[in-house]
Amino acid sequence: MDASPDTHTLRHCADLWEDAVADALDPVQRLVYRSNLLGSDWRITNTGGGNTSAKLAATDPLTGEPVTVLWVKGSGGDLRTATRGNFASLYQDRLLALQDVYARFGERGAKTAAEDAMVAMYAHTTFSLNPCAPSIDTPLHGFIPYRHVDHMHPVACIAVATAKDGARLTREIYGDEVIWTDWQRPGFELGLTLQHICRQHPEARGVMLGGHGLINWADDDRACYRLTLRLIDQAAEYLARRDLGARAFGGAKYETLPESERRTTLVQVLPWMRGRLSREQLVIGTVEASDGVLAFVNSHEAPRLAELGTSCPDHFLRTKIKPLYVDWDPRRDDADDLKRKLDAGLDRYREDYTAYYEACKRPDSPAMRGGNPTVILIPGLGMVTWGKSKSESRVTGEFYRCAVEVMRGAESVSSYTALPRREAFDIEYWALEEAKLRRMPPEKELARQIVAVVGAGSGIGRAVADRLVREGAVVAAIDRHAVAAKETADAIIGRVGVGIGVAGSGLSGAGDVIGLGADMTRREDVRAALDDVVFAYGGIDHVVVTAGLYVAPDTAGRIPDAGWEDSFRANVIGPYLVADEANRLWAAQELPGSLVLTTSVNAVVPKTGSFAYDTSKAAANHLVRELAIALAPRIRVNAVAPATVVEGSAMFPRDRVIASLAKYGLPYGDDESDESLRGRLAEFYADRTLTKQAITPADQAEAVFLLVSRRLAKTTGQVLQVDGGLEGGFLR
Ligand SMILES: [Zn+2]
Repeated sequence: MDASPDTHTLRHCADLWEDAVADALDPVQRLVYRSNLLGSDWRITNTGGGNTSAKLAATDPLTGEPVTVLWVKGSGGDLRTATRGNFASLYQDRLLALQDVYARFGERGAKTAAEDAMVAMYAHTTFSLNPCAPSIDTPLHGFIPYRHVDHMHPVACIAVATAKDGARLTREIYGDEVIWTDWQRPGFELGLTLQHICRQHPEARGVMLGGHGLINWADDDRACYRLTLRLIDQAAEYLARRDLGARAFGGAKYETLPESERRTTLVQVLPWMRGRLSREQLVIGTVEASDGVLAFVNSHEAPRLAELGTSCPDHFLRTKIKPLYVDWDPRRDDADDLKRKLDAGLDRYREDYTAYYEACKRPDSPAMRGGNPTVILIPGLGMVTWGKSKSESRVTGEFYRCAVEVMRGAESVSSYTALPRREAFDIEYWALEEAKLRRMPPEKELARQIVAVVGAGSGIGRAVADRLVREGAVVAAIDRHAVAAKETADAIIGRVGVGIGVAGSGLSGAGDVIGLGADMTRREDVRAALDDVVFAYGGIDHVVVTAGLYVAPDTAGRIPDAGWEDSFRANVIGPYLVADEANRLWAAQELPGSLVLTTSVNAVVPKTGSFAYDTSKAAANHLVRELAIALAPRIRVNAVAPATVVEGSAMFPRDRVIASLAKYGLPYGDDESDESLRGRLAEFYADRTLTKQAITPADQAEAVFLLVSRRLAKTTGQVLQVDGGLEGGFLR
């Protein structure tokens, strides 16, 4: 097992380092480069987990003297996406001098007030006014007397670190190269422990941190990166040779349901589950069904192992002390049985969580935080994770997937041991952790809320989708034109990013926006699209319908009979079908929500030639009132009524713009651009209003946001004119 870095062939991770890239970078950029490479593989380290450092020569801005500066990944951030701004910089000699400060405390040791007090001292050693806050792992890096240090949470190493005889396994895999140390909470004391190990074992290159992960070092950055990969690879290879697969979990007890049945069952249960979990605060879900996770949830040993909980501190802060395993038999039980068993399971989980809190709490512990599970395991179906945002539930899914791999590894070569409850509690309710939660910026107004926007492929719908995402909502952009819906989704994702976490194998719903194709005049289309929303996010809070149809009269000024039917189908029946299908989910979820339709000022202003449109919109106004009564008290139903929005509207193709200009006696040229023609028409419409302003999609989006938000929580059955002020359009 004693492989040298130059001859070892990596089998389980890839060496991505390119000298041509690295050599063009300054030393700090090289550290960022190394970090990004390490963070790009979830088997090497989980999202937001692990840290890297380099001790680099610099010139002191105060004295002009040469100094050594420790650059170390700071609090928060993620290695995969880290930039220079995510690294703290500290005077290395001043950081070491804090050991004298620490020595002056009377009571010292892990988890003492003295240890926590040191965290605030790191800021005093900041080099060059760097605002990045040093993390609690800073002394782990600072006290190791080598230039480059990587601390990772590799799946293979955590498997060794959580195995009952991890110390023996470490020796077997690495000989004297990696030294075992028992679980110790990260902090000043662990830094001192590592310093001690380095002094005692000058030949060692790394330490296996019991119950936690790996830390290793070198004096050269390329060598450090390569060493990290090699050490992880050695553990992975050791485990691969002994991997028992599903047998590590006692073999399969259940089989995964066929894909369509699995999905149907989940879609039936998810809104109900979300409702049960969202009584205090809304949560958003992610479904994960990778082979590894399915093998686990279907196994004989899953209930026992799940009960043990996760280990690496990064993992269980997200996955909670343990997941909820639901003892549901996919062969015999149906969706109603699943709800019943989930219900009982959730009650028991909350009792267990309260008991854990009560048993472990200390006089100064922060108050108990929500007692709901974030990970729910269901045989035959997979895993559903929940969090305050899509990113959070996705990352929680990623972490439990890691935890499953860890358990498989540990159970294959030994037996898996979770962190003792007391230790887990002391991290979960650590004052520093609580302070971190308090420092989080306030959530956005529509955070935690799931909105479907029907008609989001263009005009008002696209503006609404964009606006609601800006307010923190996750949005399903739905349109008759699937391509246009996806374009809306892609444009927003391009602006906001997909968020953190692994978007890939088996995880439902990639980011905060998805694009779906559906024709709202067809019930089965609407149902399929809303089911997709549920599968992606776990439920639905609001539905906004902006889609509509304007049928132009023929040359004789008449609407063909089919045009009448199409108008009522798109402007009245479609919105009704959407409301009816959404209500199926709202009823299961039992949470407050809202529906916003888009009618028109034309509903009250009769106009020559557009009577199919105008009368259908008048019917839509009344649909708002009928639905408000039908869906009360849980769902508020309102509408926005725009006056002619020309900008970005799919209802104003070039020939209609020209027809309108002709109707009002306005000039137009055959070779004039669309933009110029539309501009002239919009100006004309603006001039007719009381406020003399053109009506834009953004104006409608603003009104939709108000109606969806809690700001108008007591308004239902109303139609809000957003028309610049048209006295003919005043409701009466
Ligand atoms: Zn760590």
